Amino acid sequence: MVADDFIRRIIADDLASGKHSGVVTRFPPEPNGFLHIGHAKSICLNFGVAAENGGSCYLRYDDTNPVAEEQTFVDAIRDDVNWLGFDTPLVTHASDYFPRLYEIAEHMIGTGHAFVDSSSADKISADRGTLTSPGRPSPYRDRPAQENLDLFRRMRAGDFGDGEQVLRARIDMASPNINLRDPVLYRVRHVAHARTGRDWCIYPMYDLAHTLSDALEGITHSLCTLEFEDHRPLYEWLLDHSGLDLRTRPRQYEFGRLNLGHAVTSKRRVASLIRTQAVEGWDDPRLVTLSALRRRGYPPEVLREFCARVGVSRSEQMIGADQLETVVRDEFNRDAPRAMAVVRPLKVVLTNLPENHFEELPANNHPKRPEMGSRKLPFSRVIYIERTDFMEDPPRRFFRLRPGGEVRLRNAYIIRCEEVVHGADGEPAELHCSVDPYSRSGGEGARRKVKGTVHWVSAAHSIPAELRLYRPLFKVERPDLDSGTPPLSEQVNSRSLEVAAARLEPSLANAGPDEAWQFERLGYFTPDSRDSSPSALIFNRIAPLRSSYAS
Ligand code: ATP
Ligand code: MG
Repeated sequence: MVADDFIRRIIADDLASGKHSGVVTRFPPEPNGFLHIGHAKSICLNFGVAAENGGSCYLRYDDTNPVAEEQTFVDAIRDDVNWLGFDTPLVTHASDYFPRLYEIAEHMIGTGHAFVDSSSADKISADRGTLTSPGRPSPYRDRPAQENLDLFRRMRAGDFGDGEQVLRARIDMASPNINLRDPVLYRVRHVAHARTGRDWCIYPMYDLAHTLSDALEGITHSLCTLEFEDHRPLYEWLLDHSGLDLRTRPRQYEFGRLNLGHAVTSKRRVASLIRTQAVEGWDDPRLVTLSALRRRGYPPEVLREFCARVGVSRSEQMIGADQLETVVRDEFNRDAPRAMAVVRPLKVVLTNLPENHFEELPANNHPKRPEMGSRKLPFSRVIYIERTDFMEDPPRRFFRLRPGGEVRLRNAYIIRCEEVVHGADGEPAELHCSVDPYSRSGGEGARRKVKGTVHWVSAAHSIPAELRLYRPLFKVERPDLDSGTPPLSEQVNSRSLEVAAARLEPSLANAGPDEAWQFERLGYFTPDSRDSSPSALIFNRIAPLRSSYAS
């Protein structure tokens, strides 16, 4: 599938017209958390268009806010981009440019385009005005350039405390666009920075750092999400007044964010779910961070394909979470080998087989792909079937096992339930069944048809495993983590993780991470990359066979 969208068309036009001779993009995350599926859209777009046009894409850490940023996040972000399938030969940090940004700020002061405001933060924000009323100019707006320069140098030297002075652009307090009402460019912050330590006690604001980093890196197409549309005039203004010789003039284009239903796509909100212990960490498989999806068993191709399917447009996207599941199912239905696992085992004794009966039944690893080979399933007198595949008093259209009824064991024989043995709790504890020895799958006996087929494992040969069955983390499609109503506990699905003690066919004994199976009739599973070991297998359910989101 060759992607075609408004951004790719703009780029093609710019190359055709000679406006640009190459493409340089950037993906600029703030290292204040782990990346999520929304970032995957931006990564696929930025790295994708660069690769398609023989250009380059920077991974630029937007590390201008020293308090929120951590090295763990920096490392995890690069890992995730690489894992998603993109090399990162160009890694930069906005903080690399602090000295250049400082020079540019001094230049802007010299040309009368920036001034130091000694007003309080409250006053500055009150004087900003509203969407319907203009702002009020600061009393310090007309300070002479030399005085501004002197104050700015003293800000840098540490003469002022946090919030005592700010550097502001001198644009237009009456602009209908609030972003142009003398926005703050620099603030005082006596905080150590992860990379620059105590070198600076003033830090550039997002717009200044972001725009000028784009300019300094020779970015041609600066792709961001729609909420920055109103910042574009400021982006242009900053380029115009930076004093930089712009051989390549970047231009900002906005596209719609990706939001996924029943999920949270915001680092800040994921952080709050971790803090309130709704999930266990950034890679909790119920999240849609890239590390969680990876651990859950989503391959990078699936995420790239998902991003390609949702596409890039000028409007915000609210995508149903089932669309992500659909892609994983399409992929695994085609590629994943099949295996059998029983989640809630019910013991079945096949009474007409001898005690020591043992045979190996051939089973295809994939129903439609003989090249994927076959394996042998041990079959013996005692087996397990799924507890939910038996009902003592079933409704009319129940086609699985019932007293006196018949069912086919997948890849094996037809059995008939002759007797139900009850446990102390009154529930079925064990079934006594007879096997029709002439009904073997794959042979002559396969012709005899019964309505239901169930999966099973041989009791003595099966191996134990923990299955982690995930359901959507949120009961509501659009969780609201900000307003406090309804409370988080009412929005979170208390059954989002079910842990089952299952029995697996023995061929799964050596299952390793990065491998996935369809456990027949149950869904797609992969060993948990963190907790599973050969002596204690733990599988994550990547997705059930049918939508988790059906109403
Ligand atoms: P978050 O709220 O998760 O922190 P953000 O937009 O603040 O998101 P950044 O780290 O600033 O996150 O994002 C880096 C890049 O990824 C930006 O260009 C941003 O526009 C893009 N991006 C972030 N979230 C999404 C999303 N949901 N859909 C598409 N692009 C996104
Ligand atoms: Mg952010």
